[in-house]
Amino acid sequence: MDIRYVSTRNAGDVRTASEAILQGLAPDGGLYVPTEIPRLDIPLEKLGQMTYQEVAFEVLSRFLTDFTAEELHDCINKAYDEKFDCPEIAPMVKAHGAYYLELFHGKTIAFKDMALSILPYLMTTSAKKQGLDKDIVILTATSGDTGKAALAGFCDVPGTKIIVFYPKDGVSPIQKQQMVTQAGDNTYVVGINGNFDDAQTGVKKIFHDKEMAEELDRKGYQFSSANSINIGRLVPQVVYYVYACARLLADEEIKPGESINVCVPTGNFGNILAAFYAKQMGMPISHLICASNSNKVLYDFFRTGDYDRRRNFHLTMSPSMDILISSNLERLIYQILDRDPEKTSKDMDELNQKGITEISLDLLQKKVPDFYGNYADEEETAKQIRDVYEDTGYVIDPHTAVASSVYDKYKAETGDSTKTLIASTASPFKFTRTVLKAIGADQPDKSDLDLTDDLSKIANVEIPGAIREIKDAPVRHKTVCKVSEMPDVIRKILAE
Ligand SMILES: *Cc1c(COP(=O)(O)O)cnc(C)c1O
Repeated sequence: MDIRYVSTRNAGDVRTASEAILQGLAPDGGLYVPTEIPRLDIPLEKLGQMTYQEVAFEVLSRFLTDFTAEELHDCINKAYDEKFDCPEIAPMVKAHGAYYLELFHGKTIAFKDMALSILPYLMTTSAKKQGLDKDIVILTATSGDTGKAALAGFCDVPGTKIIVFYPKDGVSPIQKQQMVTQAGDNTYVVGINGNFDDAQTGVKKIFHDKEMAEELDRKGYQFSSANSINIGRLVPQVVYYVYACARLLADEEIKPGESINVCVPTGNFGNILAAFYAKQMGMPISHLICASNSNKVLYDFFRTGDYDRRRNFHLTMSPSMDILISSNLERLIYQILDRDPEKTSKDMDELNQKGITEISLDLLQKKVPDFYGNYADEEETAKQIRDVYEDTGYVIDPHTAVASSVYDKYKAETGDSTKTLIASTASPFKFTRTVLKAIGADQPDKSDLDLTDDLSKIANVEIPGAIREIKDAPVRHKTVCKVSEMPDVIRKILAE
């Protein structure tokens, strides 16, 4: 079956996978969605015998139908290799009444690695397929984890440059240290005075700027995006949900025909959307539990149908979820609106102009009854880290703790005892102080990096390589700018 990708805002904009990956965001501002979700026509038992890389091939080959098998194997083998610190790539830990799918064993110890270690290869392969003779310039706004994962993924990949914008005061000290010490001749990191939404809006504006695109074209560059709006990010994320379902069956944690719930700590709605796609491919997934922190736009959306960003922005201990505009929700809304690009455009324009768009709750419940939303505030998140640790000795990061707390709320509210997979999205070592504070073992006089030794003892886990390598690394990136200065900063970088 031949899968194409169509813009959520324009039925006439139909692309092959490689075109959509290169393009990133559609020219009309929409997001590319597959014309249909392919069924995964392989028994789960059989998938349970496969390695992560083999499952990845099965999933990717169903979605990226204009790639040859050889191209896909090449991308997969370059992406999922010893960069990951365990052969399973995404191991599972059973603790506190759930299965924690650890998505943080890649180079930057957050789940973004799962997709961003393969995206550069999908992109350069796409460029080759399309006969593109320009260098690809990746522009990325980050709430903390995407930036570093994208930098690590694209570092010194020929034919690419990467520019990352992060909110200067909106990421953890370790996240910041990871980014500003990034090596590579093609990597640029810029702090902005503003929050993540400001950075993301700034990047989107630049993507829509036709003059800037022409200017770059003359210089031999083409912009693309590594944000989770790129379909080349989304599709590789489907893999680990398929892999997890297959593993649960192979390990006899579930019986043939038994379904699981999936609970995801959510920000831009990419990770949970991938779980939804896995379900539509035929995976035995029942409910999708969408967990938010105090920036609970999605909770309100699933409870009321109102997608309303008119509210105060909270800086929380789970910064990668500090988001008021969840870009990928547009892909779900498109589906709720019967894949009607006019209705979707209208709603997105409304969101843009008024800060709110309303979907009827009836429609929401009719079209996507499988979604459930809830949130955990700061106190609840800290308590969850402590409770899970005291209960089991297992230490989880604040993002995962949001999901874990919401899962407990879900169980209490619904009485549903279906076995549940929790997406564990970051290593606790990335948020050492927050985690130790929650457990009651913080030492204010020690730096975040020095605290990793303490956490290692408490969690009984070795300090990850990603932390060891930044401890004494020199700061290479010092630029800070205003949101309005972003285009000029880019011009300057590309003129070098
Ligand atoms: C990015 C991120 C999230 C949110 O994922 P989305 O796909 O944006 O919903 C959650 N946790 C961590 C640690 C992240 O880096």
